[in-house]
Amino acid sequence: MTPFLYHCTTCGKTYQRDEVRYLCPACARQYRPGIPLVGVLSAQFDYAAIKRRFRKQAPDWNLFSAVEEKHYPPYPLGGTPFFRVAALGKALGFDNVWLKNDGLNPSASLKDRASFLVVAEANRLNEPAIVTASTGNAASALAAVCAAAGKQAIIFVPESAPRAKLVQMLLYGARVIPVRGTYDDAFRLSLEYTARKGGLNRNTAYHPLTIEGKKTVGLEIYEQNRFRVPDVLLVPVGDGVIISGVFKAFYDLKAAGLIARLPRLVCVQADRSAAIHNYIRTGNYRDARQPATIADSISVSVPSNAHMARKAVLDSGGFSITVTDREILRAQRMLAERTGVFAEPAAAATVAALRKLRGSELLDRKEQIVLLVTGHGLKDVEAAMHSIRIPAPIDPNVPGRKKQVSS
Ligand SMILES: [Zn+2]
Repeated sequence: MTPFLYHCTTCGKTYQRDEVRYLCPACARQYRPGIPLVGVLSAQFDYAAIKRRFRKQAPDWNLFSAVEEKHYPPYPLGGTPFFRVAALGKALGFDNVWLKNDGLNPSASLKDRASFLVVAEANRLNEPAIVTASTGNAASALAAVCAAAGKQAIIFVPESAPRAKLVQMLLYGARVIPVRGTYDDAFRLSLEYTARKGGLNRNTAYHPLTIEGKKTVGLEIYEQNRFRVPDVLLVPVGDGVIISGVFKAFYDLKAAGLIARLPRLVCVQADRSAAIHNYIRTGNYRDARQPATIADSISVSVPSNAHMARKAVLDSGGFSITVTDREILRAQRMLAERTGVFAEPAAAATVAALRKLRGSELLDRKEQIVLLVTGHGLKDVEAAMHSIRIPAPIDPNVPGRKKQVSS
């Protein structure tokens, strides 16, 4: 850990670590559930101290952490594979495509990273319960980390969440409250719950350490890429926190003098859940009306971290693109067939996006392009069933079968 201050990304005020817990108190007065968060806090470290202490020969990534190591829960995570996918790249028309497969975290999604750090913070604060709203992955991650740490997870989740995710949460022992509504409804209910009954709220971006937790994926990519910055990173975007976390990783590395430039970040959204995409394109924020996409993890009407996500994309020199459900399903199958990686639909959206960008002036085919796989496909088998057909069974005892099969 390195000392840090919280900096409000809306008004610029700074706060000591224990002076605030969630949003900037000055800006939070303008916030009400149902709009993107205002006053989201960003941890600004003593970057000179990191620069002095960091060694590439023996990198200590805890220098970039906002919680002391002694509070970490016993839940090993991260260190997920980062590798070149030449066959997929060739099929997509690009020469140098890489995957970061974060579906191989213990609960099978990148969200483990955020839950880990918030649970570490709960340990530091002696909070026994942690509350969250989620489309499914954040909740199953929180339930898993809480199980390892001996804490109570309290979860508000849309009743439509994929069953595998619900099964995970319950099996890990969380208290699950399904909501007959959207993720946005669950978000509001979880805030009301914390205000009334306490506990640490892990809502994404609402708790600033969710962004800090997610940034570790960017730090890992940098290390696994032999301390080089990729040219472009494609990130599936729902409420805009993962892309903000990825940005924060490279922002911190640059602030600490370790890198000279940022990777261009490409925001990938489902066309029916595209509030951040539209915000980036037009500069005007509007909710996504009735988001309905097969990519449940990025299905959101009011993205909580819209402002920070937009800034991350623009400050990195990146851009935004949308894909349809059909394109996502086709890409999911293509990714599986060409790489052996079974990603959930949201994660496959990046492959769909790259497919659309072939021949575009926005990307050079020789650039190093990284696709961030955020969740495992086994979390939502039903979605994948749209693009395959399970063959009818054969009767093992039909005379002549052996001959037919072997011929
Ligand atoms: Zn503020």
